[in-house]
Amino acid sequence: MTQNTEAPDGRAVRAVVQKLESLRRAGVTHVGKAPPAVVATENPPIPTMALPPSDPMADDPSAALAAVARDVAACTRCAELARTRTQTVFGVGNPSARLVFLGEAPGADEDRQGEPFVGRAGKLLTAMVESGMKLRREDIYILNILRCRPPGNRNPAPIEAANCRGFLDRQLAIIRPEFICCLGAIAAQNLLQTTESIGKLRRRVHQYHDIKVICTYHPAYLLRNPSAKRATWEDLQLLMTEMGLEVPEK
Ligand code: URA
Repeated sequence: MTQNTEAPDGRAVRAVVQKLESLRRAGVTHVGKAPPAVVATENPPIPTMALPPSDPMADDPSAALAAVARDVAACTRCAELARTRTQTVFGVGNPSARLVFLGEAPGADEDRQGEPFVGRAGKLLTAMVESGMKLRREDIYILNILRCRPPGNRNPAPIEAANCRGFLDRQLAIIRPEFICCLGAIAAQNLLQTTESIGKLRRRVHQYHDIKVICTYHPAYLLRNPSAKRATWEDLQLLMTEMGLEVPEK
């Protein structure tokens, strides 16, 4: 962090003191911090909806997802993200997948390619699915809490997650998976609306509407902390057992 070593200009200080004094006389008792860079746009957040028992376009989930993808591509609810994204990153995979992997938000590679989990963390996720679980990447569905990349890969702001929630729920309502695997704390806490740590959320089966939810570490965390791979494999084994899949020896 750079230090400002310049002495404050006397006139500027007096002007600030005068301004504060006039605010005090006007009855202002607190001066808050500047508003956060991310604010809701004029559109109200999409309300979180209950998953409908059957979607009208259930006969053609690919067409139904394409319709949602068009809405996502046009979305400007999060002004900063809409301004800085290369493109939206909708989701990829089998539109009728039994299993959905839920990540946090696109990174630089995903923003460039328009597909979730295509960078280093994505390659590890593919290995977890294909070498670990013996499933094919194209048989599952992969999506994120956010459909736009937060600048500098910062964490999604709560208002951004709320703005994107309707899209997540619409995608899940079309895919109708039996299982969701949350990758990391941001995905798990947002989906389940909890502040519990990922360490507490893993090793348990949660429920989101009628979908069973397993939480584990994010592949990007595993790249930085390879010793957590063993715990992640245990979570995937729990998921496979719940799914009725054969659990390979490791
Ligand atoms: N990390 C995520 O959470 N999602 C992606 O799509 C890529 C990296």
